[in-house]
This record gives sequence, structure tokens and C-alpha cells, in this order.
Amino acid sequence: MVRVLRLSVGDTILLLDGSGLAYRVRLDLLSKTTVRGTVEAQIRAGGEPPYDLTLYLALLRGERFELVLQKATELGVRRIVPVQFSRSLAGERADTKKLERWRRIVREAAEQSSRARLPDLSEPLNFRAACETAAGSLAFILWEGTAPTLRSALPAQLGSVAIFSGPEGGIGDEELTAARERGIIPVSLGPRILRAETAPIAALAAISYQYE
Ligand code: SAH
Repeated sequence: MVRVLRLSVGDTILLLDGSGLAYRVRLDLLSKTTVRGTVEAQIRAGGEPPYDLTLYLALLRGERFELVLQKATELGVRRIVPVQFSRSLAGERADTKKLERWRRIVREAAEQSSRARLPDLSEPLNFRAACETAAGSLAFILWEGTAPTLRSALPAQLGSVAIFSGPEGGIGDEELTAARERGIIPVSLGPRILRAETAPIAALAAISYQYE
């Protein structure tokens, strides 16, 4: 605000509290170390989709995973759960340092895309635990095999929804069976095999197109 934007006293800024509210603030002091302002109005901030989408995202190697974190945030995801599939190539445990880096990517993407809410990024789960948490709500698993299209499976109105997306090596047959047993519906994004980072981005874009 001081060095880059060179704001001055009397300018107004919009502060987001990450929960969906925004505050219009008029600046009344700017110094090298301090900026102070007065809240003039509290408004419901925009930028949020009408549905609550959780992305169960296969842990992918390096920047591929981080690309999906950023794009999913821009596309309105509410929460991201990293999932360890049996064929994930990214074997590394997500330590605190990695989680903090990922959360920074999400926060920066939320700010850049002017979202009122900060999507939350949870600790990684293994596939079965992820299926347990998703059971009971509307849940789809992006399956590169033969399955109804995502479009045909989406309801007229969308409330809470979970989307599972698989790793570079694909989803194992036993994983698909386990998902089906918990009512998680396999859906196709079309006849081509998409990369593990493309599929979740395509699915979120399709859902945003459908309901926003
Ligand atoms: N088994 C493939 C790679 C899987 S692609 C191979 O080795 O070539 C990685 C993930 O992207 C899949 O597990 C699935 O979740 C998703 N995906 C890729 N193409 C898809 C499609 N056409 N429809 C639905 N999901 C797809």
C-alpha cells in the first residue's frame, strides 16, 4: 500500500475477512511501518459460487499439484483435500513446510481472483479415508474409463458436491470399486485421456459454466 500502490490518506481499500464479508476502509494514516484506516461499510463480498465444492485431489508431482491448487481456487473450489492414491507418483509425505507453501498458493490465488472466501486446504488423506469423509454427500469420481458424462450426472440445482480426481497412474480398479461402494459416482469428461492436472481443472470449469 505504501511502497507499491503508493496509497495516501483518504484513499479507500477493500479488506476481506476470508469468511465472505468485506469491509470498505478509508485510510487515515500511512507510514513506513503502519497503515491505519476506519471501516466505513461492511458488505457481503462477491466472488463465491452458489454451490459448495470439495475437490479430493490426487497428490501430484511438484508444480502440477500447485497448478491445480491455483486453478481450482480461481474456479471457485471451497475446500481441497489432497489424496494419496495407490498409483500416486508423488509419494512424499506433505510436511508442514509443504502445507504452508500450498496454503500460500491458495491464498494468493483467492486474493488475485477477488474471492470473498479463502478455500481451505486440509491435511492429505489416503483414498479410503477420503471416501469415508465424502460418503453421504453428492460425490463424483473422474474416471478415465467408460462412464456417464459429468454433464448427464449433474443435478438441476447444486448444493454441496465432492469431486475426486485421480493421479498420473490413474485410479486402480479396487479404488473405483471402493468409491462405488460408498455411492461415489464415476463420471467421464469425454473420450480423451486428460492429464491428472487437466481433469480437475476441466471439471471445475464445466461446473462453473453450468451453475454460475
Ligand atoms: N490411466 C491414464 C492416466 C490417468 S489420467 C494413463 O496412464 O494414461 C489421471 C486422472 O485424470 C484419472 O485418474 C481421472 O481421474 C482423470 N481423467 C483423465 N481423463 C479423464 C476423462 N476422459 N474423464 C474423466 N476423468 C479423466
